[in-house]
Amino acid sequence: MTGRIFIAIALLFGIAGSTFLANRSSAELKKVGPVADPTPARSNSRKLTTQRELVFLDTWDGTKIAKTDAEWKKELSPMEFYVLRQQGTERAYTGDLTDNKKQGTYYCAACGLALFSSKHKYDSETGWPSFYQPLNKANVGETEDKSIPEEVRTEVHCNRCGGHLGHVFDDGPEPTGLRYCINSAALRFRESK
Ligand SMILES: [Zn+2]
Repeated sequence: MTGRIFIAIALLFGIAGSTFLANRSSAELKKVGPVADPTPARSNSRKLTTQRELVFLDTWDGTKIAKTDAEWKKELSPMEFYVLRQQGTERAYTGDLTDNKKQGTYYCAACGLALFSSKHKYDSETGWPSFYQPLNKANVGETEDKSIPEEVRTEVHCNRCGGHLGHVFDDGPEPTGLRYCINSAALRFRESK
């Protein structure tokens, strides 16, 4: 008899305990919340694809290049195409250059034009590579981005090929006060020797 009561009590506590745990974990999940993910599932990381050879351009004569989407599609990985040609944004903290602290130059992953330098890179804690200025202002163009009506942003792109890079915000550090928030997939890093 005592044994049965004991089992009944143990069961009750067991059920109550697991309900408590289930509620807790769903509450914790709610607190974190679902993260908006505009990234196509098939191209979670650029690391999955083989990087093609790119001709790096440290100086530029101002000549622009124009290619069709079909041509770019052949040259770029799905993730690069999504970001550079479709104004996509990689998920925060998924890019391979966010935490890169090596000294060197960041080039456009589509056309190879030099865009940013490690000298101007800083940790913005946003999950994307961040710079307070471009290597050369002539190489990085700006347009008004009204894709989010409540928040008009300034889009930045490679001036040579028109490839979308990211956005620039005015909450960066000194001396410019700017934050160029750039997708890793739009960049190719070359370490300085
Ligand atoms: Zn480019």
